Amino acid sequence: MMKLFFTLIMLFLSFSAQAWQLAGLGDFKFESLAQNVYVMHGPLDEPNVANQGFMNNPAIIVSDNGVIIVDPGSTLGVGENILAEMAKITNKPVLAVFNTHIHGDHWLANDAVYRKFPKAKIYAHKNMKAQAAEQGLFWIDLMSQLTKGLSAATKVVVPNQGLEQGAEIEIDGQVFRIHSVVPGHTDTDIMIEHVGSKTVFLGDNGLRDRVGRFDGSSAISGNIEALGRMLKLDAGQYVPGHGRSGSASEVVEPYLDYLTMLQEVVSAGFEEELQGYEIKQKNLDKFEPWQDWHGFETYLGKHIDKMYLEIEEQAW
Ligand SMILES: [Zn+2]
Repeated sequence: MMKLFFTLIMLFLSFSAQAWQLAGLGDFKFESLAQNVYVMHGPLDEPNVANQGFMNNPAIIVSDNGVIIVDPGSTLGVGENILAEMAKITNKPVLAVFNTHIHGDHWLANDAVYRKFPKAKIYAHKNMKAQAAEQGLFWIDLMSQLTKGLSAATKVVVPNQGLEQGAEIEIDGQVFRIHSVVPGHTDTDIMIEHVGSKTVFLGDNGLRDRVGRFDGSSAISGNIEALGRMLKLDAGQYVPGHGRSGSASEVVEPYLDYLTMLQEVVSAGFEEELQGYEIKQKNLDKFEPWQDWHGFETYLGKHIDKMYLEIEEQAW
């Protein structure tokens, strides 16, 4: 009888300790980054059926009376899994959410938070607050296509608090400083410095082992400025939008070097009146340090063309 009892206890323990699993991709759970600060590192792939649309790095800061979430994820279902993982760390309610920028993989899971914690404040850059209702529908549609309908039940939950560069806010005793260079990765970016733990949440201005897309709302030169400023903060740790968290030399510098290299070779190529593809051919070996990064082959040419446009605009 005792033996059965212990077997049942062990079964229960192993069941309750089981992290969120995505078939073929492994376990996903919150990892401790500093005291009361946790991050879950998502898969690096684009949204698809296997990852259910999950690809970002949701983070939580546990305060005396609740939880503050940074970027809760990409769909209602993903957000529910993230809240379930959060519940293994604390049963405190969510007080507030930060959305680092308008790209849907970071914030569509506001819906999951709102359904469970309707009073939570949702903070974002004021430009995002203004754009989210309309762009949210586009992102839900895109996410739904990429995941074959896994995000279909997700509703757009728009941020209700607008922020801009230099804002300092206190939530339940936790102090956050907002850093923003717009346009950077997008024209809606905030980077969040959690003063107590010296942690900086970079949003997609910071990427590790992965290069990103620069769309029409972005400026590579702004992203360079944003990372330069974050480097000067000399924070203890940096959480990128995608890829693993770490020190400045692990997280901020490699991507900053990539973007600076783009700026350098494209400026030189522009002076020599080379075309984008010629700049790429001529300088391919200089990009060797990043050739294994996810998306490198797809995006290098596009990044050169985007940088070219920015330099051309400045030259006028
Ligand atoms: Zn993004």
